[in-house]
Amino acid sequence: MSNLGKYKCKRLDGKVAIVTASSLGIGYCIAERLAHEGAKVVISSRKKHLVDKAVEKLREQGLEVHGTVCHVGLEEDREKLFKLATDLYGGLDILVSNAAINPSFGSVFDTEEETWDKIFEINVKDTFLLCKEALPYLEKRKGGSIVIVSSIAGFTPFEVIGAYSISKTALFGMVKAFVPELTKRNIRINAIAPGVIKTKFTQAMWETRDIEKSTEAIIPMKRLGRPEECSGAVAFLVSDDASYVTGETIVIGGGLVSRL
Ligand code: NAP
Repeated sequence: MSNLGKYKCKRLDGKVAIVTASSLGIGYCIAERLAHEGAKVVISSRKKHLVDKAVEKLREQGLEVHGTVCHVGLEEDREKLFKLATDLYGGLDILVSNAAINPSFGSVFDTEEETWDKIFEINVKDTFLLCKEALPYLEKRKGGSIVIVSSIAGFTPFEVIGAYSISKTALFGMVKAFVPELTKRNIRINAIAPGVIKTKFTQAMWETRDIEKSTEAIIPMKRLGRPEECSGAVAFLVSDDASYVTGETIVIGGGLVSRL
């Protein structure tokens, strides 16, 4: 059933977007929102059945989307992603880098070297590579835009996910460090920092009601966020409404402590 009237705002008409890790959760909701606002969107993740399912759900709403398998850690997958977007839609205006992993819980000093490397490879290095590889495509358009999905844990590290938190802090540094060069190329870059959002990623936190309740207790809005609540900020950041906004981060955390 067509749901195209859901968002009256069509500020992304004519834009082409790639959203990584977009078969579920926050990435899916970002892809959905960008498409509702008029963008043609390429979605992706590692598992083909999840990508196919997401494409089907988005197309049922009458949205212009294509999907492909892309593990952000694989160069050939990233190449395929850019090729698909540009072959299908003639260029690229928007990159949303959303993939991240968090395989380690507990004391930061119990993090194995291999786990540390994996976290930094996927969360930081592959974000860098995606941005770098997107540049030639974004540069060709009148004004490209990148959004990196970081985390509130990058501002205020969570004790039990120390290495992940540090990797997300690095992304804030990345955004700031890229601004001068990207500005010369007419590309803006910003980040979002979600708080605790109810997705598969945080399932361990909300599948037990007691843990969910104790988490809610420290959030001023007294509830976890919904993944779709992260998507409007991204649509704003990649649109012309944010034409003078670069190097910034929008926190989406229900008031959870982040930074001044
Ligand atoms: P999610 O619901 O678990 O979804 C994760 C998505 O990432 C899936 O589509 C998964 O599909 C894909 N994925 C995982 N590893 C990938 C890889 N190596 N390459 C490509 N795709 C990959 O997670 P989420 O909560 O939406 O998290 C998305 C982003 O938000 C992450 O960067 C996370 O750090 C950030 N974040 C989340 C929260 C939260 O509370 N949920 C808070 C702050 C920040 P496949 O399995 O098919 O690959």
